[in-house]
Amino acid sequence: MAAASPKVGNGFPKVTRTAKVVIIGGGMAGISAAQRLKTAGWTDVKILEARDRAGGRIWTQRLGPNTIELGANWIHGSEGNPIYKLACDHNLLKNAARLQTFNDRYRLRGDTFLPGGQVIDREIVQEFLEMYEELIEECSDFFLQKKTPQHPDESVGNYLEQEFPKRLGLSYDNDDVKRLKMNLFKQHLKQETFTTGCHSMKEVGLQAFGEYVSFAGGNINLPDGYDTVLDVLLKDIPPECMLFNKQVKCVLWDQMVADNSSAERHSQHAISIVCEDGEIFKADHVIVTVPLGFLKKHASTFLQPPLPEKKLRSIAKMGFGVVDKIFLEFEKPFWEAGSPGFQLVCKEDETDPRCPQEWYKKLYIFYVDPKAPNTVFAWLSGEEALHMEALTEEEVAHTIVQVLRRFTGNDDIPLPQRLMRSRWGGDPLSCGSYSFIAVGASGEDIDTIAEPLYSQHTREPVVQFAGEATHRQHHSTVHAAYLSGQREADRLIHMCRA
Ligand SMILES: Cc1cc2nc3c(=O)[nH]c(=O)nc-3n(C[C@H](O)[C@H](O)[C@H](O)COP(=O)(O)OP(=O)(O)OC[C@H]3O[C@@H](n4cnc5c(N)ncnc54)[C@H](O)[C@@H]3O)c2cc1C
Repeated sequence: MAAASPKVGNGFPKVTRTAKVVIIGGGMAGISAAQRLKTAGWTDVKILEARDRAGGRIWTQRLGPNTIELGANWIHGSEGNPIYKLACDHNLLKNAARLQTFNDRYRLRGDTFLPGGQVIDREIVQEFLEMYEELIEECSDFFLQKKTPQHPDESVGNYLEQEFPKRLGLSYDNDDVKRLKMNLFKQHLKQETFTTGCHSMKEVGLQAFGEYVSFAGGNINLPDGYDTVLDVLLKDIPPECMLFNKQVKCVLWDQMVADNSSAERHSQHAISIVCEDGEIFKADHVIVTVPLGFLKKHASTFLQPPLPEKKLRSIAKMGFGVVDKIFLEFEKPFWEAGSPGFQLVCKEDETDPRCPQEWYKKLYIFYVDPKAPNTVFAWLSGEEALHMEALTEEEVAHTIVQVLRRFTGNDDIPLPQRLMRSRWGGDPLSCGSYSFIAVGASGEDIDTIAEPLYSQHTREPVVQFAGEATHRQHHSTVHAAYLSGQREADRLIHMCRA
């Protein structure tokens, strides 16, 4: 989204390449903005990052032969995806044998187990998928074809729960197959929550579901780690531009006295960025890239003067859920060699967790990790993920192994030799995992969050917003973060006169 930049004073704003730019947050959005500005010749760019590492929700860990992604996992799509292009241009996908691609988000790959080790016939799974994918497309069509749902606040979850049984009822399947497909459907709704980033699909607005645009070409693994993409961008940013352990407490903006002299203006620096450790940075422009989860928690105090009411409302309306990953490394695989992973389908009476303590009922897909030998990983979302975050690693490992034994019928599955997991819900600098358009919100809320704050005096953009949650079509992804960083850098670059 490129908001029109207002003209000021004698006709044009006075942005220059020597202006002081401070970027808050050193994740993909912040790094992308800094890289764009530095390569365009901007001389005074700083990133303030609260953690002791770059990358934010891209968090690659290396342990011996294992490369573990605690955050972003895949490049979503190749056709038109700028991250894919970056990876190709820099030969990051070189080792084709270690590439994991699969063609769409709904294909069940590998065996699908029922409790006791029974494997569901692949043809049944395939038929189910076709019906399910059709329904998901229908959900997107509400936005794409400007159809109005029966109830304005209808959710994707409600729609799917009403429509799927109707379609199933019309099929020629016998009752047993219908029951199986119904159970597959319930499990699939769980997968949909981690794809979307919510606790339940009943939180996700039907009308705006189709705002999200996917790139074709499947999900692609970065064989040497997701952070190799960051490294490419970081090469253009001098190390001294990135300050670590600098948590920003608040941004005091629009303090400037109107003044027509550019030199004097910049010596005054309209913005003060106050860090938790007491240090204060001065800037002419600040680009805020903190996650929406952080903004939701701190929006009322993070900026002074406070954010406009409209922006605060949009921040509150948008969804930002918890999605975690749990990696289990075994001494040797208990799964078939070459298997990409497997799925677990519960019996009807056990499908839904009745409380977060039953978090393990939300487990669904286990992926074999191509970047970590002998390792499988599972995804977990919502309240169940938050509950899991508070348990010890031993408790989590023990519970998951019970589940695996029960579903595969293999009582010999040992405890893993190592468990690693993310805890994005409790992470104070993220406060969750990624954004979605909640019931009651719309794509316009994303645009509102992305809209810069302009100086009352010069009408220049002084506080800008980037980050995955500020990109209307691709929110929730790494490429959204990357594009949003470039968008905000370009906003300044295009206003620049010297
Ligand atoms: C489990 C998980 C799996 C994912 N899988 C995928 C995937 O497969 N593909 C994909 O495309 N995307 C995926 N994503 C989403 C993707 O990781 C994010 O959309 C993207 O990395 C966000 O980048 P960002 O720069 O907007 O935010 P962040 O990476 O969160 O960067 C913001 C930075 O701001 C810092 N910060 C916060 N508060 C302050 C403060 N007060 N002062 C200073 N610094 C602060 C944070 O520490 C952080 O480094 C996944 C995310 C998660 C959590």
